[in-house]
Amino acid sequence: MNDIAVDVLIIGAGPSGCVASAYLKNNGISSKVVEKSKFPRFVIGESLLPRCMDHFEETGLLACLMDQNFEIKAGARFLKNDIVCNFDFAQKHTPGWDYTWQVPRADFDNTLAKELVKKGVDVSFQHEVTAVDFDANGHSTTTVKDENGNEYKIHAKFIIDSSGYGRVLPRLLDLDKPSSLEANSAIFTHVSEPDRPEGVEGTIITFDVVKDEVWLWVIPFSNGNTSIGFVGPTEYIESFSGTNAEKLREMLKTSDYYYDRLKNLEFLFEPHIIKNYSKAVKQLYGKGYALTGNSAEFLDPVFSSGVTFATESGVKAAKLITKQLNGEKVDWEKEYTGYIMKGVDVFRTYVSEWYTGNLQKIFFHRPENPVIKEQICAVLAGYVWDETNPFVKNHNRLVKTVAKVIDMENEEVS
Ligand code: FAD
Repeated sequence: MNDIAVDVLIIGAGPSGCVASAYLKNNGISSKVVEKSKFPRFVIGESLLPRCMDHFEETGLLACLMDQNFEIKAGARFLKNDIVCNFDFAQKHTPGWDYTWQVPRADFDNTLAKELVKKGVDVSFQHEVTAVDFDANGHSTTTVKDENGNEYKIHAKFIIDSSGYGRVLPRLLDLDKPSSLEANSAIFTHVSEPDRPEGVEGTIITFDVVKDEVWLWVIPFSNGNTSIGFVGPTEYIESFSGTNAEKLREMLKTSDYYYDRLKNLEFLFEPHIIKNYSKAVKQLYGKGYALTGNSAEFLDPVFSSGVTFATESGVKAAKLITKQLNGEKVDWEKEYTGYIMKGVDVFRTYVSEWYTGNLQKIFFHRPENPVIKEQICAVLAGYVWDETNPFVKNHNRLVKTVAKVIDMENEEVS
């Protein structure tokens, strides 16, 4: 294949790469998407947040998703010791979408990628980026291997690295740094559920806390299958023996709520384990490139922020590149890193405070405080840039303070 020259090369056709390339296409910037896998392909990350609907809408990718009849996610349910905490996205502090979807990602990502091709974006599947060289101006020459093993080069003014756990530029440019979060791991599969409970019980997304720092996700899809997975400290996940299926079957026994529903269901594939899934990088951009989605930072599945962060950063990077290629000045530190990290840091607080137990204290405290609940609900819907929300603006302090007040109340009672 001959060498190719484009304005922007996008590595990876996950949600981050798809929204970025759609934005560039809509704004007349030439781009090429290079995707290592053959689609549809499995990837984990099936519970979305309302905030990502804004990104699909803005990039013209919402209608194709609407047509897919994915399971509606109108909130989320958390369970612990017989206490139920239900969040309803219609009752949240920040205006915005009040629903999203629970999606099998193979179908979801394939729908997005097919739509890109329909829009005329140049997407090459089963083409893998193997090397990248930058010149002093940040212009790059990328080596790509196609499905037959043939190599070719792509010359680009800019690279958006949306390669997810492929982490192409973090690996090649030595940008990885240890995550500030505890080392957690996950084990998960899909089951077919022909006899789901009737009504909401059968379709609601649930996070069942089986031990303070160990929880089970149950994510029903509209195709009749359900995603199930356990998350916990790596040493906990490693403490189970046998095959991955045997480990997961044993863990299911720890869920009083779901064991009977799930115990006899066949696993649709051997459960996957992802160890120490949290990732971080030293920098989110450099001369001639930006990292988006999981290639940049991944925190934790507990609040389903991954895809939303992937689309937020994908759209943001595409906007700033468009601005720059149109001759305007971009302050990448402020407009990209500053903006993105603001949201990531809010979620980081919620993830950390989930595992310290402070957030669980608030979720499962009775009676509930409706104002606090609406403010936290807006965070869980992904609206983490809204500084009118005290639980965004003062995230660091407020979660701890409210948990402390609950502790004091409990002490008074006992
Ligand atoms: P991806 O969707 O991973 O896409 C990256 C693409 O890049 C892939 O298709 C890959 O094939 C391609 N690629 C990789 N290397 C190369 C290469 N060298 N050349 C070309 N292409 C390449 N998020 C949620 O929002 N909700 C959840 O419920 C959720 N649950 C999770 C559970 C677990 C256990 C884990 C670990 C993560 C979870 N996530 C969840 C996070 C979610 O998986 C990611 O945040 C999301 O998929 C990131 O999207 P992306 O577009 O950045 O990357």
